[in-house]
Amino acid sequence: MAKQIKPTSALKEQQGISQSEITNQDSIDVIKNKRKVQLQAKTLVKDILKGNIAALSRGITLVESKNKAHLKEANSLIKKCLPYANNSIRIGITGVPGVGKSTFIEAFGNYLISLGKKVAVLAIDPSSTISKGSILGDKTRMEDLVKNPNAFIRPSASGESLGGVARKTRESIILCEAAGFDVIIIETVGVGQSETAVHSMVDFFLLLQLTGAGDELQGIKRGIIEMADAIAINKADGDNLKRAKLAKVEFERILHLYPEKSSQWQPKTAICSALKNEGIENIWKIIQAYIQITSENNFFNKKRKEQNKFWLIQTIENQLKMNFFNNPKIIKELQKQIGLIENNETTPFVAAEVLLKLKK
Ligand code: GDP
Repeated sequence: MAKQIKPTSALKEQQGISQSEITNQDSIDVIKNKRKVQLQAKTLVKDILKGNIAALSRGITLVESKNKAHLKEANSLIKKCLPYANNSIRIGITGVPGVGKSTFIEAFGNYLISLGKKVAVLAIDPSSTISKGSILGDKTRMEDLVKNPNAFIRPSASGESLGGVARKTRESIILCEAAGFDVIIIETVGVGQSETAVHSMVDFFLLLQLTGAGDELQGIKRGIIEMADAIAINKADGDNLKRAKLAKVEFERILHLYPEKSSQWQPKTAICSALKNEGIENIWKIIQAYIQITSENNFFNKKRKEQNKFWLIQTIENQLKMNFFNNPKIIKELQKQIGLIENNETTPFVAAEVLLKLKK
């Protein structure tokens, strides 16, 4: 039988077969592939710095990869991009499903692009981590913005823990900034813990609300209101306009109940209609005012530094936890200790001590 000619890695790449899909059929291929991945990361950096969207996409895919062999490459990519990062304004946008987040981001993004900006939109979608379904990603969203060459839209990595998605989003921010995006929007659904994660990676946090603030606050937790740098009441159009104005006043009153923030910024309220493209410019003005005040009093830089510290500790905690609970010895001993607890033969504290003292 004639020996089948294997396509070279270069050909595979030309054919659109990604590095991760290249099968390691013999040791030479393995070595070649390893070199190739490294080379790819190097060229990726160059192309990302040129603002090449395809390279940015591939870079984010590398960062999101669960393949352990890619981790080193991803880290080197981040390291190389880091000196070119940090130059954007990072804006978090949250609100319950249906409040109009994607409609708003489309209007807002297009407005910013009309000012000559480059806008990247990243999403953190807790639903995709829990149910593997997606509140943010399953519909056709931001159709216009997607087509714009000055926009980049990336749905969240799915099937990951929130911590995992958050970490990857932070790394994606760095890549987007290196690619020259000057406004990065991080979108999330305002129903869970994800706002806290988003809040700790953005400069400005915008909460979108519907009319009828009332007592129930539409399921939005008090903590989210407290995190907001501005609350915009969306769908302020048609019959809803009057109610939106009333809701604005109500939210203003609520915001004044909170103590002054260390940023010295008094959170603002606004009304807008994402659908009719109204009030969008005003929200950008609010964000600019925030940047001016917090740059002058140095809060802006201080906050970014604090965020870096927070993520350092967070990453260590996650890693330690993962190492601990994935250790086969721990898995076995944990079962045993749970059994003992159930039979009242030990206490949770003694059991914890036994587990923590267990050698690797
Ligand atoms: P998301 O789930 O928060 O992303 O919300 P969408 O952007 O998908 O919007 C949900 C629905 O509200 C869609 O039918 C939109 O057309 C509508 N919508 C969004 N913004 C506005 C607005 O400003 N005014 C009105 N009347 N409808 C809006």
